Amino acid sequence: MEDNFRHKGMRKKLAESLQKEGISDLNVLKAIEMIPRHLFLDKAFVEIAYENKPFPIGKGQTISHPFTVAYQTQLLEIKKGEKVLEIGTGSGYQACVLDFLGAKVFSIERHQVLFNKSRDFIKKLGFTKIRCFYGDGFEGLPGFSPFDKIIITAAAPVVPQKLLEQLAIGGIMVVPLNEGVKQKMLRITRINQNEYKREGYDDFVFVPMLQGTEV
Ligand code: SAH
Repeated sequence: MEDNFRHKGMRKKLAESLQKEGISDLNVLKAIEMIPRHLFLDKAFVEIAYENKPFPIGKGQTISHPFTVAYQTQLLEIKKGEKVLEIGTGSGYQACVLDFLGAKVFSIERHQVLFNKSRDFIKKLGFTKIRCFYGDGFEGLPGFSPFDKIIITAAAPVVPQKLLEQLAIGGIMVVPLNEGVKQKMLRITRINQNEYKREGYDDFVFVPMLQGTEV
């Protein structure tokens, strides 16, 4: 679990390049600069961990592109102490970015192997407050709702109705919604009990959000 000056230098460069690409939230850039992304990847990828690319994390899944992580996080406008639900724990990297920003993070993963691996890893890294759950993100976590923020990190075929219901009034959901081969990043704000405002942002490509769980 080495994090040396070279890794730190590469992260600083990555944060600078994300800023040039349009990420302006300084807290988000700081999180990218501080969290040792290379440790979330297999050893084979250490040298390229800080290039702005997605990487395989097993079970056919990927850790999102750093720009995508920064972009979604920036849209969430995280404030300290907010309850945030993440769908798609994957490597756990995005969950750690949210924790770094002071959020109370709840994260769901449908792949049991990834769930076990990432839950143990992020604890070991020192992110002990993140709560990981094995389950289907379409269901959310009704027992812990409402959430101030919800982030979906897989390509959603529709905006999941149960997640809309678990969003606090005034809360924000960021979701990449399927539009053929690409996904349109949507930011949905809950105005009141029945009204939601939708804003469309850029296009991205994610692995699919799938129903049910897998071992
Ligand atoms: N946030 C992750 C990116 C993971 S890629 C990271 O920082 O590394 C998307 C993840 O979503 C995959 O691990 C996939 O297994 C998971 N996923 C897909 N559909 C899901 C669902 N319905 N519920 C929970 N997780 C889901």
